[in-house]
Amino acid sequence: MSTNKDKLLLHVCCGPCAVYPTKFLQEQKIQFDGFFHNPNIHPASEYSKRLENAKKLADIRDFNLIVDEEYFEDLWLEYVDVPTRCKKCYTIRFEKAFKYASNNQYKGVTTSLLVSPYQQHELIIKIANSFSKQYNIPFVYYDFRPHFREGQAEAKELGLYRQKYCGCLSSFEDKLTFDINKELRKEEKANG
Ligand code: SF4
Repeated sequence: MSTNKDKLLLHVCCGPCAVYPTKFLQEQKIQFDGFFHNPNIHPASEYSKRLENAKKLADIRDFNLIVDEEYFEDLWLEYVDVPTRCKKCYTIRFEKAFKYASNNQYKGVTTSLLVSPYQQHELIIKIANSFSKQYNIPFVYYDFRPHFREGQAEAKELGLYRQKYCGCLSSFEDKLTFDINKELRKEEKANG
């Protein structure tokens, strides 16, 4: 029987982003558990949807998903206009994941955030490496980005909910502004 010492802990940011990484790990016969900790998703109903979706993927792919349900979106309001908010966001997630992996003796940590070309890839690596040192547990790096589209297409086939914004209140507001401007441009065009 396998123990955590044989497994990676895969931080799962959401179901669709985890589609390719989980497929890759299973194809490579790399054992892993998923770890869901994404406490600043806005609004709370969206958080619930993403969590349910991650659980749906875990059922489909048949892997164990550990859930840390801490949710502190209200506290996140102080970071809304802070330019370094993504750094804070990665830090919160990775600190929990590395601590959990260290306490439970996993052989390393990786993250589904490494699949997205829209995330700050180098910053993710830097922060993960710093927690790797702090908790004395390897950060296992993969560049999943070339397979982002493939993963999203498969997520659609699997019937997973695919969100239209990154997650926090700022990204939600950016998306609203984008949609409003798009509608305005359409109206302008229609009115000549
Ligand atoms: S934009 Fe995405 S990565 Fe950046 S703070 Fe918001 S949820 Fe986190």
